[in-house]
Amino acid sequence: MNSYSSLIRHSGNRELFLFLELAILSQNKDYPLHLHVEGLRGTGKTTIIRAARKILPPIERIRGCLFNCDPQKPHCPQHRHLSLEEILALGTEVVPMPFLEISASAKVGTVVGTIDLMRMTSSTRPEAALLPGTIPQAHRGIVFVDEINRLADTSPELADVLLDVMGTKPGRLQIEESGLPRLEIPAQVSVWAASNPDEDPGSLEDIRRQLSDRFDFLLEMGRPGDPKIVAAVLARGSKGGTEYDLTGDRIREKEFAQWACLLSRVEIDDELRQIVATLYTKFNLESLRAVEALQYGTKVYIARQGRQRAQVQDLLAVAPAVLRHRVEPARLIEILRYLRNLSEEVGKQTAAAASVPVEKGKVQRGKSTAASGGVQGKVGLWQRIREYVSRRLEQIFPNQRGQKRRRPGRGGGGRSGRQGRGSGSGQSQAANPSQTSILAPPRRARPLFEIAAEGSIFPEVEKEKGAGE
Ligand SMILES: [Zn+2]
Repeated sequence: MNSYSSLIRHSGNRELFLFLELAILSQNKDYPLHLHVEGLRGTGKTTIIRAARKILPPIERIRGCLFNCDPQKPHCPQHRHLSLEEILALGTEVVPMPFLEISASAKVGTVVGTIDLMRMTSSTRPEAALLPGTIPQAHRGIVFVDEINRLADTSPELADVLLDVMGTKPGRLQIEESGLPRLEIPAQVSVWAASNPDEDPGSLEDIRRQLSDRFDFLLEMGRPGDPKIVAAVLARGSKGGTEYDLTGDRIREKEFAQWACLLSRVEIDDELRQIVATLYTKFNLESLRAVEALQYGTKVYIARQGRQRAQVQDLLAVAPAVLRHRVEPARLIEILRYLRNLSEEVGKQTAAAASVPVEKGKVQRGKSTAASGGVQGKVGLWQRIREYVSRRLEQIFPNQRGQKRRRPGRGGGGRSGRQGRGSGSGQSQAANPSQTSILAPPRRARPLFEIAAEGSIFPEVEKEKGAGE
């Protein structure tokens, strides 16, 4: 089994690594963030998620408490009425942050809680008691749901449980079992989910839109595009899997402690908050969760970067994951363009304020050293845009993904309406854009996402038009 730090990162999976770390950092500060990663089978989603348990920071709990009671704020039925002295008398212990899994075939009783049959049938002192399920036992930790689209399809009652748990921060959980008093407890779990929308029963968005919206972030897992990366993965496999170097993971644990300290001090200033609020009204975002996730996600992102102050370009780094399951692709592009323009304006203002002479029509490159912002911020932004576009190209062209995301519950069709991919369609004949020489178009270029995948590039047509004008 691999250590987390030794897993190979590439443009297709880098986003998942980053947002897993943001979720861990946030959960360490008692604020659960939920993330869902979509991608084809065999791209390594679950491998990375399961490896991330090795970098989870430990938690302190009341000794032996199955509900992981925080000694400072106990919540379970057994400990919540105890005084601090009584808790200290019980003692505390440091345990790994919980990481528990819910399978698509799980039962509500095992996930929520059920009668403890061991205690009920005890020969010495039989009593009716509650055995907490996966979610209460994962309090202050992570719950991983693989194939969440299947779970939502075959087990709507479990999807309802997740809706409650993910509805507020922290969530609530009701445990009802006949013969026992109804119990309502906080459930502070960070839900990580994975699915392959190309396989039955389709994407979570189509099956249970409400549950899809509960996820703060939706990440798209891409395949490695560079043969060198694939060769590196193969080389690791040929070592027989004996390599288990945890040094990198221990370093990452220390970094988490530093970032967690920083997170308490990170500021989102009023100006940036105003921009986030404007996105909600200007672009008619349906859910307030989107802007909440954008604001808080940016805050955690800043701490993860080792900084204290957020800038517009930081919103740009977080916005795709926050918005791609909440708005149409074309609207997402509009929002990113809006933020990009704002970021460039801020850059110009900063450059002007610092009296940096910027030659008209020319971008200064490669001189950045320390502080971000200004012209240097601009260069960073362009790098990010370039990475973003190449990532999207990689995702769109192998399976024509980007254009096909539909808004669920509209226009009928449902899951069965999902089209088969690739096989013999004209789209699979499209040229690889990275190997095509593109002539500069005579008119203003449009983003790829506004153009149908079939007609993305027509260099010859553009050439003729250009000659005629
Ligand atoms: Zn307890």
